[in-house]
Amino acid sequence: MNFGVDTGFYPLGSCTMKYNPKINEEIVSQFDGIHPLQPEETVKGVRAVYDFMDKALAEITGMKHFTFLPCAGAHGELTGLMLMREYHMSRGDLARTKVIVPDSAHGTNPASAAVCGLDIVVVKSRPDGLVDVEDLKPLLGPDIAGIMMTNPNTLGLFERDIKEIAALVHECGGLLYYDGANMNPLLGVVRPGDMGFDIMHLNLHKTFSTPHGGGGPGSGPVGVAERIVPFLDIPRTSGFHGNFGIILRACAYILTLGRENVKMAGPLATLSANYIKESLKDCYKLPIPTVCKHEFVFDGIAVDNGVSTLDVAKRLLDYGFHAPTIYFPLLFHQAIMIEPTETESLETIDGFIEVMRTIAREAAEDPELLHGAPHNTPIGRPDETAAARQPILKYAEQ
Ligand SMILES: *Cc1c(COP(=O)(O)O)cnc(C)c1O
Repeated sequence: MNFGVDTGFYPLGSCTMKYNPKINEEIVSQFDGIHPLQPEETVKGVRAVYDFMDKALAEITGMKHFTFLPCAGAHGELTGLMLMREYHMSRGDLARTKVIVPDSAHGTNPASAAVCGLDIVVVKSRPDGLVDVEDLKPLLGPDIAGIMMTNPNTLGLFERDIKEIAALVHECGGLLYYDGANMNPLLGVVRPGDMGFDIMHLNLHKTFSTPHGGGGPGSGPVGVAERIVPFLDIPRTSGFHGNFGIILRACAYILTLGRENVKMAGPLATLSANYIKESLKDCYKLPIPTVCKHEFVFDGIAVDNGVSTLDVAKRLLDYGFHAPTIYFPLLFHQAIMIEPTETESLETIDGFIEVMRTIAREAAEDPELLHGAPHNTPIGRPDETAAARQPILKYAEQ
């Protein structure tokens, strides 16, 4: 009964549930016999993969070096913020205890800052969804350690003022942290280092080919600009050989596509997202109607007759589609966040658009049908709290 990204459309925004080539799984399976305590001279190939990936990711992002210590994006954020703090402390700049986070940020950004012992200052977005530079200016001062941003941001919009923002933050003595979870549309097109970011993480399990449904092992390598390199004097992998399988998948992905084809991912993902957005904007509310990158957000169904985003998501299951991310980001009450990725065919995307249009029509004609959805799945609407708190993960023996 499982639903997989190989067999169906999986448009979860902010997660990049992209197709992960099977060949990468096969390559990784060749290396699953490595023992954590094997003598170093017998695993020189592992070291070579890490060295190659350090260079490849540095080139892709415009950073100087990477550590592969962090095992997730959030772990990377914490590591990166600790580096930021070290940098300021090494200069005797002890008053820098605040981190600026946009109101559109992913929840892990303020959470990581808090775990790092930093205070959070929120910068507002403008009505067009981009960071409000005028709101940012008065926040900057000698107490600011830095700013955390993702670009394109959580609404899928490219922060066009990033150069000005970088100049302002640097001028006040702060650093820029790049949340690389949204790197997909920028691969080979734009580099965070060139935008002015000093520290960043990548989610190899989002952008570089590790399947992450089910929450399995991840990798959130942290890259730094030249002046932060001295503080990268920390282990370059997590315990033993680190999450080597994930590094190897990313390595296979980069080498398979090569310099030229890596550049295809971003434009294709961007094209898919804009095509869906434009095809559906007459039946779903589009709060920000500009060109998006790899994902975009609707604010619920256009007709106002009590049909919620949850109803739409549940009805999609009846038609065999995995629901998009819903009720995130928090900026809109009925958010539906759609990320089609670069690998879906026009046929699949057109099929999704048709079903979304059908659901909008059903919502107008027969709202009850949607309130009761899904009708065709083995279970209907479970108690979601109980399902999360007391999951039943095996068949009962009876
Ligand atoms: C997924 C995501 C994160 C967190 O990454 P994890 O690997 O899940 O810890 C951070 N920021 C953004 C924008 C994300 O989409």
